[in-house]
Amino acid sequence: NRKFILKRRPDGSPTEGDFELVKEPIPKISSGEFLVRNHFISLDPAQRGWMDDQPSYMPPIEIGASIRATTVGRVEESKNPNFQEGQWVLGLNGIEEYSLVQEGGFTSPIDTSIVASPTNYLSILGAVGMTAYFGLLDAGQPKAGNTVLVSGAAGAVGSAVGQIAKLKDCRAVGIAGGPEKCKRLVEYYGFDAAIDYREKSPEQLEKAIKDAAPDGVDVIFENVGGEILDAGIMALNEHARVVLCGLISEYNSDPRGARNIWQIIVKQASMKGFLIRDYVPKFAEGAAVMAGWIADNKIKFDEHVEHGIENTFDAFMLLFSGGNKGKLILDISGE
Ligand code: NDP
Repeated sequence: NRKFILKRRPDGSPTEGDFELVKEPIPKISSGEFLVRNHFISLDPAQRGWMDDQPSYMPPIEIGASIRATTVGRVEESKNPNFQEGQWVLGLNGIEEYSLVQEGGFTSPIDTSIVASPTNYLSILGAVGMTAYFGLLDAGQPKAGNTVLVSGAAGAVGSAVGQIAKLKDCRAVGIAGGPEKCKRLVEYYGFDAAIDYREKSPEQLEKAIKDAAPDGVDVIFENVGGEILDAGIMALNEHARVVLCGLISEYNSDPRGARNIWQIIVKQASMKGFLIRDYVPKFAEGAAVMAGWIADNKIKFDEHVEHGIENTFDAFMLLFSGGNKGKLILDISGE
């Protein structure tokens, strides 16, 4: 059983020496337990946060433990009557070939017959798609005619947020890195405007946002933080909503906070932290709507699949260089 473990806590940007690929015997299962052979691993920015020993919504990953990850795999062996050998499951496990799931563990069956690929449960029909759906509609409360500004817009969450904003008759403005991603935002995902943040000074970014959102911004869906959030805040309309979904630009450095936060007062805006965890009981409802949109070709999504557990580090770091084009997934099935 090859496992990608945390050897020491990263100081700033992770380095290869913070991790180790180890080989251990495949765990033996007891009554009530089952063994999953993981095929697909979700690589998420949140995993960087779990590597730190900081108060969070989950305990930090322990030194020596596999990096915690959502995985899709098949039941290899079962002593639990609710899970049969060969069945596809989704669960919170680790970056490892085999995971032992105890009775009552957070793993559930998935129906692979209704999706194009089992990986869809890690992307548009999983936590990522549901973050876009509930984060925008519930936390952001967009109204028809509003302008929605999305950072990290070409990524897994951001690309879905912009498309849902369009489905709700909003103007969608996306911020992403590089001309290629910006072109894709407009031409493929259907955003009204896209802004390339790279090589822009804070003042240039502020101006670009104001140009792309001539009526001001009513909802910010924030995935990045730092200077990008600061620039967006300067374009807020009165009573705007800022949804803090992620602050990826600050995950590898000390957070510096938003300097223009005073605009929240001036505009009587609200700022809300969003965590998908609280929406798990509503996943079936959100996924049904999303599946309908996909069937009607109203939502497009990309999955960026890398291969091999031995390539975990390089694959994970794509999230921070912007090298991923869509939901980042690691295929460790060896198939
Ligand atoms: P993405 O697919 O968006 O991948 C990450 C992208 O972030 C990169 O491709 C890169 O795009 C961009 N990025 C990385 N570093 C920087 C930086 N320093 N400045 C600007 N952009 C940067 O990942 P996800 O869609 O999975 O996640 C997006 C955000 O949503 C993250 O912040 C994540 O933590 C958050 N999230 C929060 C959840 C919640 O419950 N609150 C649940 C799921 C995700 P580019 O090339 O454009 O720079």
